[in-house]
Amino acid sequence: MSGRADVGTDGGVMSASAGLAKENVPSQLAAPATSLSGIGPNSAEKLARLGIETVRDLLLHLPYRYQDRTRSVPLHEVVAGRDCVVTGEIRNCQLAYGRRRSLAIRIGDGHGELTVRLFHFGARQREAIRPGLWLRCFGEARPGPTGLEMVHPEYRLYDSEPPPPEPALVPVYRTTAGLAPRRIGAWVASAMGAWPPGFGSELMHEFARLEAAIRYLHEPGADGARLAAARERVVLDELLGHYFALKRRRDLAGSQETLPLPPRQQLGRKLLDQLGFRLTRAQARVTSEVLNDLALKRPMMRLLQGDVGAGKTVVAAFAAIRAAEHGCQTAVMAPTEVLAEQHFETLGAWLSPLGIDVGLITGRQSAAERRARLAAAQEGRDLVVVGTHALFQQRVLFQSLALTVIDEQHRFGVHQRMQLLDKGRLPHQLVMTATPIPRTLTMALYADMDVSVLDELPPGRTPVRTRLAAMPRRPEVIERVRRICASGQQAYWVCTLIEEEEGEDAARPPRHAAETTLAELRAALPPKMRLGLAHGRLPPAEKSAAMAAFKAGEIDLLVATTVVEVGVDVPNATLMVIDNAEALGVAQLHQLRGRVGRGTGISECILLFEPPLSALARQRLATMRESTDGFLIAERDLALRGPGDMLGTRQTGDQLFKLADLAEDRAVVPKATALGQKLLAEQPATAAAILETWAPREVEYAGV
Ligand code: ADP
Ligand code: MG
Repeated sequence: MSGRADVGTDGGVMSASAGLAKENVPSQLAAPATSLSGIGPNSAEKLARLGIETVRDLLLHLPYRYQDRTRSVPLHEVVAGRDCVVTGEIRNCQLAYGRRRSLAIRIGDGHGELTVRLFHFGARQREAIRPGLWLRCFGEARPGPTGLEMVHPEYRLYDSEPPPPEPALVPVYRTTAGLAPRRIGAWVASAMGAWPPGFGSELMHEFARLEAAIRYLHEPGADGARLAAARERVVLDELLGHYFALKRRRDLAGSQETLPLPPRQQLGRKLLDQLGFRLTRAQARVTSEVLNDLALKRPMMRLLQGDVGAGKTVVAAFAAIRAAEHGCQTAVMAPTEVLAEQHFETLGAWLSPLGIDVGLITGRQSAAERRARLAAAQEGRDLVVVGTHALFQQRVLFQSLALTVIDEQHRFGVHQRMQLLDKGRLPHQLVMTATPIPRTLTMALYADMDVSVLDELPPGRTPVRTRLAAMPRRPEVIERVRRICASGQQAYWVCTLIEEEEGEDAARPPRHAAETTLAELRAALPPKMRLGLAHGRLPPAEKSAAMAAFKAGEIDLLVATTVVEVGVDVPNATLMVIDNAEALGVAQLHQLRGRVGRGTGISECILLFEPPLSALARQRLATMRESTDGFLIAERDLALRGPGDMLGTRQTGDQLFKLADLAEDRAVVPKATALGQKLLAEQPATAAAILETWAPREVEYAGV
């Protein structure tokens, strides 16, 4: 399977998207949030932390959940720790002098009583609250000095018993420290007042106008089905906006020129002779797709998907060789130092014999060494420069950068990928990921790229045998480790828990779970077995020394955290034990398991779990036992857990969408892609309006 991410589109579509032009951005929307009354510089600063700068941003700051305030709870039924509406007559109202002065208002409804306590109040407020009046509050009750109390609830005074509350769902907004969600709600309301007519798109839908759907999300009635429809309408619009933005990127890149890299010296053939293995058919196909792209003036933007162990690195090597044949440089970016070092070694071993110098730039080399490598990059002596993505942030200068390779892209997040495109002339770009992405999502998320898939593992690999073992069988598992290592093979023991539970001895700092496990295994295994430790809190030098020793076969059993997850390649390691496997999602388990089964022998993965398992954890582990197919696992992952992990959004905190959730809304994704193609072809004005709603900066960019 290979081809463009935008399968089914044609030239007309591309030119239609090229026609997305800068419209008149309604000025009220683009105005800074401070243009609304009640938002001063102080509040603006807090809003900025939420990514809200303009009136538009505020309108698109959609509630992430709703409270049901349709019922007033009788006072004797109020329970601690749950938000609710209560109504009662004020019995008395007194100043209380505890640690802090407070106003204690006692209300009753004939069934029970409750204290409402205010710490901040003015003289006028105090006078207004009089016995005999009625109070309706919304808040959370907690045990206090007088029984259950509500501290600083939202409240309203009434002269007499108020009618039952209006049935309505109340929006709850994501907020930041020092900003009450209610204030955001109030600002959103005033932003809606300033809303220019005709904003947003019009589509065939229960909510035809985007504006109507957004208004409904901010000010819903009590109708859950209407709310779901409004949400779907906005999600559809947002996904379309994302799709159009990627298309636009694609068009822009396509209209730019970069240095074409046609075949020159046949250096690739030399590598082929020296590799020691033959390329799989998939590797050969994908390599020629990449090399064909490189020969063009249009910058390559290609995503290479291949399951763990499929052999992506060698494809990158051929691409780098092509650049080197032209005397041009390649930057190779890895998500971790460990992986960068591994790429440095692999690529160095392959390329140095061809006369291509490979350099490594990492955070942990000495300042002098680093300076030397930076100079070599800048002067063009190192034709391949490997590093972590810090490599980019620190603006490594190149003499002649023609190609960037980004490995394990899911760790970078989509925004970072876009940022890379912003830097000057576009080099050719190869993005590699071991995270299988379901096809429906590929279309939505990578509409800016061509996609190649390595759908074949190197020969001789046998699928990893996966077994489940409940904790009481731990001794048997340890015995299995002993036997494997005694036979000359190596094993991983992966700890998923970060810290031990705090013990009774509070004076002792909590130990890292991996350290505790190391001690346990050391005691249980024969003394001649060599154990190593790698976890994220070790000094980097120690961690990489342990990894290197494991690679070199000087360590039999590596006790590690999920730091071994990405890319680490030790073919002699044939057993992986994942401790507390129930704590991880299937996508991550699959990545981890990919560390074994990389040689020709039979490999095994034991998922140790703590019973009883939740229904969800049971399904996850069963999926792992039943399948080694990354794509199937990705689909399951989406269904079982949501794509956060899969797409790296959770790790990076990169919030791709304001409202859409690729797991929850996965049914909308294919609709959006199909509709997107249609709109670009038939209604470019609608497409432009949608792009403007969600990515106004794209529109400005396009207008340049
Ligand atoms: P990934 O796709 O996970 O990045 P790697 O590029 O690290 O995979 O390759 C995994 C291992 O398989 C490496 O040891 C690599 O040398 C080896 N390998 C790659 N291609 C082949 C092949 N065609 N035949 C045999 N071994 C291969
Ligand atoms: Mg890799």
